[in-house]
Amino acid sequence: MRVFLFLSLFFVCDYTFASIKQDSQKCTTDLVTIDFNFSGGGNSVCEVISSDHIKILVKPESKDSINPSPWYAFRKSKHIKKILLELDYGEYEHRYFPKIKKINSGWERLNKSDILIKNDGKNVFINFYPSKEEQYISSQELITEDWYEDWYKILKKNKFLKSKIIGYSVQNRPIKAFFSNENINNPFILILGRQHPPEVSSAFALQGFINQLIGSINLSKDFLSKYNIIFVPLMNPDGVENGFWRYNFNKKDLNRDWDNFSQPETYSVKNFLDNLKNKNQPFLFIDFHSTYKNIFYISDAKLKNSEQNFLLNWLEKSRLELSKINYNFTVKNSYTESNKVSKNYFYNQYNIPSMTYEVSDSEIRSVIVESSRILAKELMIILLDTNRKNLDMAERKGFEPSRRLPAYTLSKRAPSTTRPPLH
Ligand SMILES: [Zn+2]
Repeated sequence: MRVFLFLSLFFVCDYTFASIKQDSQKCTTDLVTIDFNFSGGGNSVCEVISSDHIKILVKPESKDSINPSPWYAFRKSKHIKKILLELDYGEYEHRYFPKIKKINSGWERLNKSDILIKNDGKNVFINFYPSKEEQYISSQELITEDWYEDWYKILKKNKFLKSKIIGYSVQNRPIKAFFSNENINNPFILILGRQHPPEVSSAFALQGFINQLIGSINLSKDFLSKYNIIFVPLMNPDGVENGFWRYNFNKKDLNRDWDNFSQPETYSVKNFLDNLKNKNQPFLFIDFHSTYKNIFYISDAKLKNSEQNFLLNWLEKSRLELSKINYNFTVKNSYTESNKVSKNYFYNQYNIPSMTYEVSDSEIRSVIVESSRILAKELMIILLDTNRKNLDMAERKGFEPSRRLPAYTLSKRAPSTTRPPLH
């Protein structure tokens, strides 16, 4: 009898616990429902404080996240009265200014006057006025698989591009690479994006940069006849879909895995490059990320070949045009042999200029896109100029054109605005 009572109690308790847990993924009061069950919804849970006050506990996928990027995203049902939502970061601090997506319109920042930050950013209170529609509120725009798939549909129509699934993520999502293939033996640039899920501003930059390289202007056509690009826009699809702060589904930081390639996402890139039939290798590597400010980490200052300072010169050459749209940035030489980031792997492995392209979390979105287009244009101009010089040199000497980039110095070049057109 005692055993029966104990077991009954256990099952009752267990059932109660399960229902509380289920409730915490979705909170409903007589005024509103909050939930996280959508792409990018993340690990947050919620707690009803009162019918017009719901607390959202913002949580990472793992406690040992080395770079707190407190991602949150939630969906709010329509409501006829004002409600208060509270973000509770626990031991973390508020970082991303909340944005809202209304039906049939784009993302916009919430009104500052409706947001109260307290307790050194550990608690954030947001007022929401009555709304007739369901809305998404998120730390950054929800740039998830659907967004990439919409872009890929456009890319697949581009006659210069082909695509290939080069591997699968831990949760079996495809890792998609795109490449131009006008002449597969042309030297190629390798571009990666979104190793870190919350770094949404970098997705806008990567898209703008690529769209410029493959654009319809003569500069792009000329560029793609002499150079190839290989790019993987979404390296961490699981992290993005799950709303993680940093990791892939194995709780590993992909940008600390570029030495033993223990994760399927990083391995897919290495394996693809190692197995290129023509044994071609990248001559330039760019990895897109986001952080608190616009900064380019470069690693070509110590190169002992003609590419020394190639990145520095390209970025400084672009600075004037970028300043016209108020895109301010820092360039930092950075190289650590043992930190396992992609930039250093490509620098070490191929002895090439490699760069981490960091975009500010809060940069104006249209400025991000425009700045990446300016940088892509300037890169094409420099590389085509390099190609011409190579050919001239080869003709004069009667040699095959060199695969490497000849030295390029700022002082020898006129500003791009006064440069004659290439055609
Ligand atoms: Zn990053």
